[in-house]
Amino acid sequence: MMSVPPEQQLRAYVDYLRDMGIYDLYRRDDPSVPLPESLRAALTAAKSATSVQNVVVPARAQAGAPVRGAATVSPRASAPPAAASVRASASAFAPPAVPTPATAPTNYFPSDDAPPPMSVEMSAPMPKPKSFDALVPVPSLVLPAAERSAAMEKVRAEIGDCTRCPLAYGGRHKIVFGDGDLSARLMFVGEGPGADEDESGLPFVGKAGQLLNNMIGAMGLPREQVYIANIVKCRPPANRTPEYVEATTCSQFLIQQIDVVKPQVIVALGATAATYLLGVKQSLASLRGSWHEARGAKVAVTYHPAFLLRDPRQKGEAWKDLQRVMGELGLQGARPKPTA
Ligand code: SF4
Repeated sequence: MMSVPPEQQLRAYVDYLRDMGIYDLYRRDDPSVPLPESLRAALTAAKSATSVQNVVVPARAQAGAPVRGAATVSPRASAPPAAASVRASASAFAPPAVPTPATAPTNYFPSDDAPPPMSVEMSAPMPKPKSFDALVPVPSLVLPAAERSAAMEKVRAEIGDCTRCPLAYGGRHKIVFGDGDLSARLMFVGEGPGADEDESGLPFVGKAGQLLNNMIGAMGLPREQVYIANIVKCRPPANRTPEYVEATTCSQFLIQQIDVVKPQVIVALGATAATYLLGVKQSLASLRGSWHEARGAKVAVTYHPAFLLRDPRQKGEAWKDLQRVMGELGLQGARPKPTA
């Protein structure tokens, strides 16, 4: 019989608990974990919004029989008798985020005498995240340029070998902190690292990164003169959208990074970046074309380069967004190459 590697077993447990809406793994309730009180309150709100409700456990499961082949149902899930209905958390709420009832796969109980699979009814949509400005007060002081490197190092040291959210167990190789000029006037915020970034530890270095470099170059800037970071610093498995708890847990670090750099303009690349920066649940289309605000910077919203790779027809629209940013920063754009 083929044995399952321990890391896969651990991942199965974590997935199982997350499906059940149990997020206590994240140490949010541990007072020794240094979290801003406002952020801890937001996470607690997320906990109540995603907690298991109306859990009904089949007789076999109540007797301690294995569920999903590994975990047993926790005491929180051992209440009323009868049918098998579990309210689980919705996953990420990237638009359009309207959870629909789902049914658990039927192959968890392969034997004939096994109980019927649990039906999983998705809970209400995840709460609207708080904006970065609502999570932590915006500092009025701007760090002197000479102090920014040490301040950013402090943020990196605080992250350490972070295990604050499930992405630590999703097969990440490197924490992708952020990269660029600590005095940049322009900052780009993406969603999360992909495979190339996870490998290198640097943001936007794959194909989407090359396109972002071209976009920055077309604005008349070298990449080294901007700062680039993501909403989450660890690669979500299979490049899925970061979940609410992952994004809100990791936000504390990006907030600090923005406060160190104090950019004049932030470009939110894609709906996920806009959602968490601004604390909104709106379509990308409705957010583009207007100025928003976060951490004292003007925020423009445009398409994520990975989306533009999939649908190059939208590059013209993205260029319009970047031209507005160029106007704000007084950039002239790349000079045309001299013809021979
Ligand atoms: S995504 Fe952020 S909070 Fe989650 S483990 Fe990585 S660094 Fe920590």
